Amino acid sequence: MEKTMKAAFLPGNSMVVLKDVPIPEPSHGEVLIRMKSSTICGSDIRAIYREHLGKGPEGYQNKIAGHEPAGQIVKCGSGMRRFREGDRVVVYHISGCGLCNDCRRGYMISCTSPLRAAYGWQRDGGMAPYLLAEEKDCVLLPDSLTYTDGAQIACGFGTVYEGLEKIGICGNDAVLVVGLGPVGLATLMLAKTMGAQKLIGVDVTEERCRIAQEKKLADNVFVSGPDTLKDILAVTNGNGVERAVDCSGDTMGRQLSIRAARKWGKIAMVGEGGTVEFNPSPDIIHEQKTIYGSWVTSIWLMEEVVERLVRWNIHPEDLVTHRFTLDKVADAYSLMAEGKCGKVAVVFDEEVKK
Ligand SMILES: [Zn+2]
Ligand SMILES: [Zn+2]
Repeated sequence: MEKTMKAAFLPGNSMVVLKDVPIPEPSHGEVLIRMKSSTICGSDIRAIYREHLGKGPEGYQNKIAGHEPAGQIVKCGSGMRRFREGDRVVVYHISGCGLCNDCRRGYMISCTSPLRAAYGWQRDGGMAPYLLAEEKDCVLLPDSLTYTDGAQIACGFGTVYEGLEKIGICGNDAVLVVGLGPVGLATLMLAKTMGAQKLIGVDVTEERCRIAQEKKLADNVFVSGPDTLKDILAVTNGNGVERAVDCSGDTMGRQLSIRAARKWGKIAMVGEGGTVEFNPSPDIIHEQKTIYGSWVTSIWLMEEVVERLVRWNIHPEDLVTHRFTLDKVADAYSLMAEGKCGKVAVVFDEEVKK
């Protein structure tokens, strides 16, 4: 096997740099993964690619980028407890200490230890031919799911499933999704699969609305404007929706998701950054509404969503609109930053298609 590999780093200023780095050796409890698909997340663009804005858990420490990796284990260190060479895996994208209360709940995203390190932020991520991961961070990927399905479960679909589980989705619900980037599209896809009979999508970008329509993910899609709230009320008998999910992270988007929810409605906020302004008495108190915050997911819920995707026979990779090989990784990030696309994947080996 070769000794070095090209890996992508994000120095800021909307640049991507490919550098030669040594291929790592797995030590005790670690596995070396041959990368197959590594998708780009909105967080990468928001907190690293344009400028290094992230602090604390989002602080980028000049590591190999990419926190949505899926691949195949090609080498194991000593002390393996479950995984073997040849296993197809998704990596839960934060390596936690394993011992704090959050880790013990499976929410390594919230690990409170200084040992906490996110792949692609504080330790090397998936934008390279090989990734060194801890065995405990791996989730087995069934054969019926592709690696590009898996890469999206690593962050996006896990995050969405967590948010939808918090607000509860069933056949009684009209569901509004505000913000139709990859996470918003995934929310529509899962909410429908979980039984919602009426799906409404909203975005400021026409291209993103068109993707939701073309992929038949929503019954109604609105390019947001001054009348969007009225439009939503008009397609829900004047009542609004039972469940709303904000994936926009935008002040007006969040306000819309709150105001378009009907009495007793539940709202999940998943989109990051920004602020929100609303009037508590008319907007939530008198209408008996509940707002949930939801940050990523736990590794056990991620394992469950993997199992359910197989049962439901749906494929997250259907939301991928563009695939790039690693030598074109800079084009992949700039396309994602423009926001006129669905999910963007950097792919290797058999995942190189079209
Ligand atoms: Zn992500
Ligand atoms: Zn921890």
